[in-house]
Amino acid sequence: MITRSPALLQRPDREAQPLDVQSPWQTQLARAIRDPHELCRRLGLDDAWLPGAERGHALFEVRVPEAYLARMRPGDSRDPLLLQVLPVSAEAETTPGFVNDPLEEADHTPAPGLIQKYAGRVLLIASPACAVNCRYCFRRHFPYEQNAPSRVQWKKTLDYLRADATIHEAILSGGDPLASNDRQLAWLVERLDAIPHLTRLRVHTRLPVVIPDRIDAALLGWLAATRLQKVMVLHINHANEIDAAVVAACKKLRDAGVTLLNQSVLLRGINDDIETLAALSERLFAADILPYYLHVLDPVAGAAHFDVDDDQARELVAGLRRVLPGFLMPRLVREIPGEASKTPL
Ligand SMILES: *Cc1c(COP(=O)(O)O)cnc(C)c1O
Ligand code: SF4
Repeated sequence: MITRSPALLQRPDREAQPLDVQSPWQTQLARAIRDPHELCRRLGLDDAWLPGAERGHALFEVRVPEAYLARMRPGDSRDPLLLQVLPVSAEAETTPGFVNDPLEEADHTPAPGLIQKYAGRVLLIASPACAVNCRYCFRRHFPYEQNAPSRVQWKKTLDYLRADATIHEAILSGGDPLASNDRQLAWLVERLDAIPHLTRLRVHTRLPVVIPDRIDAALLGWLAATRLQKVMVLHINHANEIDAAVVAACKKLRDAGVTLLNQSVLLRGINDDIETLAALSERLFAADILPYYLHVLDPVAGAAHFDVDDDQARELVAGLRRVLPGFLMPRLVREIPGEASKTPL
């Protein structure tokens, strides 16, 4: 069976030299758990989970870095971090309305690795790989092999950006853009920096959360070197994801002048209650991160078991508003193909 997973489709870095010394995050990325049996064993899960884990894994492979695993409670099959990464048999079920490309991104790629749906900003697929495979991911079926540009293709994409002065913000996305090496990222950001009408660089990433050591000197180096204003949008769904190492990584980013925001996905059985969402907002702010979006699930095939219905989502957010200051309220949104922005619920 072909596994259309970002991890397996990792692009060979054509201009890279062989790594002499692997920096810690690269070792952690390379050694992430990729075997459903190992994941179950390491967490002391009952053998009853294995057939489902194998079934889900065949559709979208398991990938969990050690640093993330360490924040899970052993023996607890309801752990909110485990549920985000453990493949289950429900992923093999088909549900009406849950499809392979729910966001119809395939229709919005005018240049290699570039997705433009909204005015003034574009997404650049800077890396096809992720450090963690989230079971609810709307890109679990994304054809990354067609969207992992080589440098020759990047030059075309940069030409496209140069030619359109209405674009002010470049958003590095993926996969996870920070799964790419810093030489590659520095090369790209340097070229974005040279496009006069770009004012902002945004990075959408989960890496500082799942492997906090990713925020190292090399990364801070290219961030510091750009004139562009820097925004990093993290992806954290539960307060337990934020440990001391994540807080320390965020501090380094803030010290480098990066505005930190967070987007979450509303996930059944993981964060679909007021206390959990309130604790997440509080803990985000303690780490110097502002809540940005709370997405309802994109209807991607294999993820229907995470869905929270719209009425319940609205009710949760209304309840959340009663316990949180306004600035800690994420915006509840849905992505509707063809709309000019995310759509508030
Ligand atoms: C979500 C998204 C963005 C960013 O939207 P913001 O509302 O600015 O955060 C940009 N481009 C695409 C294609 C997106 O899906
Ligand atoms: S949700 Fe983000 S980090 Fe998780 S698999 Fe999807 S793209 Fe990667």
